[in-house]
Amino acid sequence: KVRVRFAPSPTGGLHLGGVRTVLFNYLFARRHGGDFVLRIEDTDRTRYVEGAEQYIIDCLTWCGLNPDEGPHVGGPFAPYRQSERKENYRAYAEQLVNSGHAYYAFDTAEELDQLRRASPNFQYSQATRYGLRNSLTLTGEEVQSLLQAGTPYVIRIRMPEDETVSFEDMIRGFVSFETGLSDDKVLLKADGMPTYHLAVVVDDYLMKITHAFRGEEWLPSAPVHLLLWEYLGWKADMPQWAHLPLILKPDGNGKLSKRDGDRLGFPVYAMNWTDPKTGDLTRGFRELGFLPEAFVNMLALLGWNDGTGQEIFTLEELVQKFSIARISKSGAKFDFEKAKWFNHEWMKRLDVGRLTSDVLKVLDENGVQGVDDAYVTKVIGLVRERLTFVSDFWGQASFFFGRPASYDVNAVKPKWTAQKKAFFELFSHSLASLESWHAVNIELVFKSLAETEAIKAGELMLPFRIMLVGGKFGPHVFEIAELLGRHETTERIRIALA
Ligand code: GLU
Repeated sequence: KVRVRFAPSPTGGLHLGGVRTVLFNYLFARRHGGDFVLRIEDTDRTRYVEGAEQYIIDCLTWCGLNPDEGPHVGGPFAPYRQSERKENYRAYAEQLVNSGHAYYAFDTAEELDQLRRASPNFQYSQATRYGLRNSLTLTGEEVQSLLQAGTPYVIRIRMPEDETVSFEDMIRGFVSFETGLSDDKVLLKADGMPTYHLAVVVDDYLMKITHAFRGEEWLPSAPVHLLLWEYLGWKADMPQWAHLPLILKPDGNGKLSKRDGDRLGFPVYAMNWTDPKTGDLTRGFRELGFLPEAFVNMLALLGWNDGTGQEIFTLEELVQKFSIARISKSGAKFDFEKAKWFNHEWMKRLDVGRLTSDVLKVLDENGVQGVDDAYVTKVIGLVRERLTFVSDFWGQASFFFGRPASYDVNAVKPKWTAQKKAFFELFSHSLASLESWHAVNIELVFKSLAETEAIKAGELMLPFRIMLVGGKFGPHVFEIAELLGRHETTERIRIALA
């Protein structure tokens, strides 16, 4: 059975790339009837940030990408927080020491710092390890007595001297690495916690993960992981890897980083994130007014397409169409204008009811309360194709909730005549007796009266709009009149003419 996992470290807010990794995991799991696991990789306590885990869960909920198993929902492989699985890892690290694939290292942090200061390129590797204090250089007795004395130590992987490690990545194809280039990564830290490298392998194994999607920035770690799978005797169970292409800055110049958002004027986080230590707020797509449908749709197209040119997909469609073969190898440029386009498209498509409660909030902020929901829904239906965000609603539709405070007189004045004024008096009169109040009927009366009065209807439309709206914008003017109702429409004509 297909089992995938999203394995974030709770070190802060979740940015675009993180949510896209969630999405691809989710789509792949749903596409193949598999399980989607959320696992919190919190073994690096120095980078742990309070609130980050809850933020990640809230993001997943907002996006509608809910895991089947995770710290908040439980599951057969609980616990799903690595810090709560601490006891699992040591035995595996020791197994690796016993089989000669790892070793104890007793060097203190100060000693290593000194070495780094002396030569900035210092690495704990096969080039240096034989001159350092570890179980490869000390005698068995020395090691035993250090351990018994409670001397702090780490366990490091012993990278082979010159082997080639290779694997088939689902996206990148054949990838290979020279083991001699890698340092001897720490597997178990002095505090007894595993590092990411050991924990990710052990948990992918114990949780029976079959496919692992993660950002391309993890590709350099793959050889270490591969060797661990082999050394622990689990090679046959190793998940298939898919390293996702990077999300690039809009100009294609390098990876889009967490800091780029503020600099370039758009969000890179899914939702607002407040750093608990500094109190700094990083803005998110949600609070800016992005609809989760649009956000998810936009993310899917960052590095994937279905080959037909279709751009608008519901989550269900994505599940049906998703295939790894159509994920591109090269990085995907993030384009904020395009992201807004997706939101605009979704504003037009969503069930109006989905927008109503957000619009009611906007109305409330502008001092409009107690309006009929059905009326609001109709207004949304009329103006939504002009909106990128729900917050644009007031600017586009305030005149439905109050009379114009001022008129764009200049738009009308140059061509205003007594004859036109007379037209509107007559028109208002006819409206009073119009049998059925519908846009088409209002338009009919308008046009036939214009004809009788020998005025071009086109020249009357703008004044009519200004009377109802105050300015030169808004949807079809007869639709506006229909929605405002007979009384309000004739009142606005009367007030404007006065
Ligand atoms: N904990 C890693 C991260 O924060 C997970 C990488 C992986 O999926 O292997 O990105």
